[in-house]
Amino acid sequence: MIHKLIIIGSGPAGYTAALYAARANLKPLMIDGGVGKGQEMLGAGGQLTITTEVENYPGFEHGIQGPELMRTMRKQVLRFGTEIVEDIVTKVDLSERPFKVWVGDDLYHARVIIVATGASAKWIGLPEERPVWEGGLGGAGISACATCDGFFFKGKEIGVVGGGDTAMEEAVYLTNHASKVYLIHRRDTLRASKIMQERAFKNPKIEFIWNAAVERVHDPADKRVSGVTLRDTVTGLARELPLQGLFVAIGHKPNTDLFTGQLNLDENGYLLTNHNVRTSRYGVFACGDVQDHEYRQAITAAGSGCMAAIQAERLLEAEGDTDILETPTHW
Ligand code: NAP
Repeated sequence: MIHKLIIIGSGPAGYTAALYAARANLKPLMIDGGVGKGQEMLGAGGQLTITTEVENYPGFEHGIQGPELMRTMRKQVLRFGTEIVEDIVTKVDLSERPFKVWVGDDLYHARVIIVATGASAKWIGLPEERPVWEGGLGGAGISACATCDGFFFKGKEIGVVGGGDTAMEEAVYLTNHASKVYLIHRRDTLRASKIMQERAFKNPKIEFIWNAAVERVHDPADKRVSGVTLRDTVTGLARELPLQGLFVAIGHKPNTDLFTGQLNLDENGYLLTNHNVRTSRYGVFACGDVQDHEYRQAITAAGSGCMAAIQAERLLEAEGDTDILETPTHW
């Protein structure tokens, strides 16, 4: 059997693509990434399943819990007839249509594919971070998303780890909420662009702590952070820093390993797209964080999922009910 459309991934981008595709009668098959949950694999629902309160997704006056939002999206796509395989894709062959998608030994064929595999925040690797990516303690003290969780730290002293543009951006943004932001970086020079560095240097609420690695966080298991142990990366000396929140801003990793060598990626591994959602391969669309390192919001992911489904529908409609599947090199 050849599916008209397979959607890989089940964050806001994947679910929105499924919603539009199912309502357009494309009978989408979604492979939701639902096993292998852990630091690298977020499981079904993606990054929102490891956050708590989501207050910036329109339509929820009083906010909604991230996992609840994703459960609701899932129910909505099931209602319109999306078929969901609760597993991870292990291999794809996009060299010709119909495309091949493997889940272990099971092989699926598709005329069109929408990639919505998202991105994962990088973590330092401390045991105290584990409860965050395992079960959603976003508001409890450790977070990897300032836009999502900054609001919970009004008037508090917090730390941001990292020395790149993300860390500068998050630190500056967090000064809107926090009374003080310590920017903790493992070296004494920043990787961030000059303009972002200057913005952070100029901000009176930001204090830089150089040559420092976070060794321990006290103690997010109690659903709060009271401080961190820092290790000087030059002298080796340890010191305690009282804090009420810690933001890890050391980058994101797009989940594109499956597509390396088959689709064009940028230098950071994100899928390159044009016309918003078209990848380098005719018939393969990409939406959400896997192709967006700039906005990375649930609502922008959902918007691009909608675009991918509409473009997929137009492609299939234009092709009609044929067995001859073309793969032009330009589109
Ligand atoms: P990045 O440039 O790779 O920087 C990551 C930072 O985290 C580096 O300073 C790195 O330290 C530090 N780091 C990495 N692993 C660490 C660890 N285990 N423990 C402690 N520190 C660690 O990542 P990014 O800041 O997310 O930026 C990614 C890309 O997006 C860049 O091209 C950036 O320009 C772009 N971006 C642009 C904007 C903007 O223009 N508004 C905003 C965000 C991101 P070292 O420096 O020692 O390696």
